[in-house]
Amino acid sequence: MIFSWTQQTFVRDLFDWFEIYGREHLPWRVDRAPYNVWVSEIMLQQTQVAKVLDYYSRFLEKFPNVSTLAEADEEEVLRLWEGLGYYRRARQLHAAARQIVERFGGVFPSRYEDVLSLPGVGRYTAGAIMSFAYDKHYPILEANTQRLFSRLIALRTPTAASESQKRLWEIAGSFVSRETCDSPRIINTALMDLGSLICTPNAPQCEKCPLQNACEAFKKDLTKQIPVAKKKVFYENRHEIALVIWENAQKKRVCLVRCKDSGRWGGLWDFPRAVVLGDEVDFDFAQNFTKNLVGLALKKVALLQTFRHGVTKYRIFLECFEAFCEDAGDIFEKTPEGECVQWVEVQKLRQFPLSSTGRQIAQILESGLDETSKIC
Ligand code: SF4
Repeated sequence: MIFSWTQQTFVRDLFDWFEIYGREHLPWRVDRAPYNVWVSEIMLQQTQVAKVLDYYSRFLEKFPNVSTLAEADEEEVLRLWEGLGYYRRARQLHAAARQIVERFGGVFPSRYEDVLSLPGVGRYTAGAIMSFAYDKHYPILEANTQRLFSRLIALRTPTAASESQKRLWEIAGSFVSRETCDSPRIINTALMDLGSLICTPNAPQCEKCPLQNACEAFKKDLTKQIPVAKKKVFYENRHEIALVIWENAQKKRVCLVRCKDSGRWGGLWDFPRAVVLGDEVDFDFAQNFTKNLVGLALKKVALLQTFRHGVTKYRIFLECFEAFCEDAGDIFEKTPEGECVQWVEVQKLRQFPLSSTGRQIAQILESGLDETSKIC
């Protein structure tokens, strides 16, 4: 049974709690212009608030409104997004800004269907924009409220299951029903904050929770079992190489490749990379790889730096080699995979949006660090 949560007295306790502990100081809550709310919501997808804060203020400084974002180059947008991950979000944000200019004369739409039609905007984001920016009666369901609602009703099925999702959206809807809810903005924000600050994944602080009396998981002592665990993620080890290919021994220009839009760093630039299937990387490996990729022969390859990092389910051991071309010459304009290739001066690397390890390699090159330790 779904009942109207807002008719219950404990919701007043939620408001009281929110007045004291709510995060109304967050910049996208101080200035709730639809554009600001939209940018923040896209940034917050799968990213912690603490990480988003700096990115958000830099982004708003550079692109204060839809028109400035629409006029920008995609690479400028990606450069500001660099390090935030999930780069598709940035490209969709940029594409959506252009659509807002073309379809809505540069004014952020205020109809739910129009907001939902923008690239990168799903049901949650559209609901968040409608309720946070316009205070309209639209529900939201994201990681924090999903966990909170699952515990409130002691949901025993995995939250991602379609039947669970249906129930959770119904509960989200009942909190913001037109009949009983005066401010959907406040109730949605309070629920998100409660989920994020109190009803945390591993150690919910039930003793501080204003919804404790209504919580089935608390009553049944099931807070540790709910939400029902997702399928365990199995991490895969992976060995990759990145090549800093110098045009010649003077080490002025290096070869960069623009990652395909559909890839993990779509739209960013990177040093050429490959997955290593055997154990050893030797000169022949680097030579063949470079020849196929950009059409140049190498005369020397040396290990520059190693990294360990994680991307989605991969735990990556990355060896970065620097390689020198035998004869400076034209490189292919595109790799066999269709990615653009370009010689770039080291001083100009900071203008290019790079993958996170690509940026670390660029910084090594910029600082002139040369830790050559192994010649292949
Ligand atoms: Fe979450 Fe505990 Fe509150 Fe229930 S009582 S909603 S488990 S914090």
